[in-house]
Amino acid sequence: MKIHEYQAKELFRKYKVPVLEGIVARSGDEAYQAAQKLGGVVVVKSQIHAGGRGLGGGVKVVKSMEDVEKMAGEILGMTLVTHQTGPDGKEVKRVYIEDGCDIARELYLGMLVDRASSQVTVMASTEGGMEIEEVAAKTPEKIIMQSIDPATGMQAFHARKLAFGLGLKGKQIGSAVKLIMDLYKAFNETDASMVEINPLVISGAGEVIALDAK
Ligand code: ADP
Ligand code: MG
Repeated sequence: MKIHEYQAKELFRKYKVPVLEGIVARSGDEAYQAAQKLGGVVVVKSQIHAGGRGLGGGVKVVKSMEDVEKMAGEILGMTLVTHQTGPDGKEVKRVYIEDGCDIARELYLGMLVDRASSQVTVMASTEGGMEIEEVAAKTPEKIIMQSIDPATGMQAFHARKLAFGLGLKGKQIGSAVKLIMDLYKAFNETDASMVEINPLVISGAGEVIALDAK
C-alpha cells in the first residue's frame, strides 16, 4: 500500500522518528489557516503518490502568509508531472504545509525487505535529495548497506555503523542511531515492505530530521 508523505510522517511521529510540524490542507483557505498555526517560513508540498515533486515544481518555500494561500491555490487541482508520475501526471488533491527547514546536509536512509534472504536491507548514503537508483548506477560506493536478521533485529552497532558511514559527528551520531532504531521498529511493526527518507537532513542547528517520507 502506498501512503502519502503526511501519512508516513504521522506514523513516524508515533514511533518518535523526528519530523517537522506540518498540517495537511485541501484548499487555499485551509493552507492559510495551517500556515498561521505554524508561523514563520513554511513549505507547500504536493501530496501525490510519486516522488520527484521538488524538481517538478511541487514543493515551494513560501515566506509570507498571503503567498501560502496563493501558492496552495495554484498547486491544488493542478496536474503535477514529475519523472516518476509518467507523462499524464497526477492531480494534486492535498498539500502538506510544513515548517521550513534550515538544511545543512541532505542524506538518504531507506529500508526494504529482501525477499530472497527474508532479511531487511538498510541503505544509507551521503547523496541525499537525489534518487537512490541514480546513486546506485553512478556512484555505488556511496551507498552503505546493512542486512538485518529479523530473528535478532536491529542492534545499536548496526545503526552506529550506518551513522559513521554517513560521516556524522558528535551528538548527531546518537540522534541518528536512535532515529535508525526507531525507524526499524516502525518498519517492522507496520509490516512495511519499503520505507524511504530522502532527504534525511542535518539542520543548521545539528538536528537529524526526516524531511521526506514514503
Ligand atoms: P520529492 O522527493 O518528491 O522531490 P521532497 O520532500 O524530498 O520531495 O522535497 C524536495 C526537496 O525540497 C528536498 O530535497 C529539500 O531540499 C526541499 N524541502 C522539502 N521539504 C522541506 C522543508 N520542510 N523545508 C525546506 N526545504 C524542504
Ligand atoms: Mg524526496
